[in-house]
Amino acid sequence: MTLAYVGLGANLGDREGTIRRAVELLGAEPGIEIVAVSALRETDPVGYADQPRFLNGATAVETELPPRELLDRLLAVERELGRVRGDGPRDGPRAIDLDLLLFGDEVVDLPGLTVPHPRLAWRRFALEPLYELDPGLRLPDGRAVEPWGVLAAQAQGEGRMTGEGRGQNDKLGPLGEGFMAGHGLQCG
Ligand code: AMP
Repeated sequence: MTLAYVGLGANLGDREGTIRRAVELLGAEPGIEIVAVSALRETDPVGYADQPRFLNGATAVETELPPRELLDRLLAVERELGRVRGDGPRDGPRAIDLDLLLFGDEVVDLPGLTVPHPRLAWRRFALEPLYELDPGLRLPDGRAVEPWGVLAAQAQGEGRMTGEGRGQNDKLGPLGEGFMAGHGLQCG
């Protein structure tokens, strides 16, 4: 069994209803058990700005599935809930978005699947719910999952939230150590 974390997001239609349904459908899959669901929070769109605000959260799941099969289940649930991939801009509006953020302490680098999620460190909307679910959570390389790391990185001119996920930013950014500079910033 592996404890994995799945990012939840939606910015079209009944956002909360769709996210709740996605969690239900995931929990109904053989080999996947929902352990915890974070609070859902409103967030500003990242990357493609001209779209409605998102509702974001995360869920912790225990799974017997290997990472590729877990991702396939996530994509199947997205399809079932009406997500059409390949339409519109990257980071554009979506009825539901399920991302495999962490899979135990495994590092996965396969075509079409990178874990930890390659843009996790640049996305406060993903880090915050992870931190809420487990404030002691660490990446496979040992760095702490601390939402203020993104803000601190941004303040230092290292992280670029608007260009996140592209080119040289398509790798884990600075997290944890050294970013207590951002201490005191509000999360959520
Ligand atoms: P997006 O629509 O931006 O969430 O991109 C989803 C696509 O990214 C999927 O079709 C996956 O093949 C690919 N992908 C790579 N790594 C991950 C991951 N850790 N979680 C979700 N999707 C991933």
